[in-house]
Amino acid sequence: MKGFSGVLIFIVVIYVIFFSDYTQEIVEVNKTSSYTTMFTTKEKGITDNEAMLITEEVIESHKHLILQDLGVMDDGILDRIYIVDGYPQSGFDGFCYEKHTITNGIMTYVQGSAYIELYPLRILYSYNEVGELVPIDEHHRISKEQFREHMTKILAHELRHYWQYQTGFDAQYPDQQSLPYEERPSEIDAYAYMDEYYESFQSK
Ligand SMILES: [Zn+2]
Repeated sequence: MKGFSGVLIFIVVIYVIFFSDYTQEIVEVNKTSSYTTMFTTKEKGITDNEAMLITEEVIESHKHLILQDLGVMDDGILDRIYIVDGYPQSGFDGFCYEKHTITNGIMTYVQGSAYIELYPLRILYSYNEVGELVPIDEHHRISKEQFREHMTKILAHELRHYWQYQTGFDAQYPDQQSLPYEERPSEIDAYAYMDEYYESFQSK
């Protein structure tokens, strides 16, 4: 796994160099849960390669639908959804970054600044007892269909954060980063939306 750590360090360095002024507003799903125990399948689970391809498909088939459902303008965000081929240091499987200005205590989103990162491999790797990052074996991985559902929800969740920036929802809670993750109004809202979107999509 040496090459993998190298990639991680590289990503971290790039972050520090280019993105350190970004507010890390964020995200994700089941940070503390182990996907290994959440899902067990008798069939072979999804491969790394299939996960990357399905993530691309999910983005292409859902990004316009989600934004339309949210009813906010596209400031180019739909072209700034990136799939990261690596394991996130934070443990999150998606991120939505943004920049904002603060004038007289009012936070305002900087148009064109938000971007999203998705980490498909977060769902397929886990840490073992000695702290090494290892692939989850094929019989304990989720199926392709479970992965597709999960990734669709992650995308809806991250785009909801974009909606929060555009609508000023986020600006109502300038101090929420000091709250526990699961108590932040933006997270509660984004989790609710991702399920709502997925259900409405299923019933169409
Ligand atoms: Zn979130």
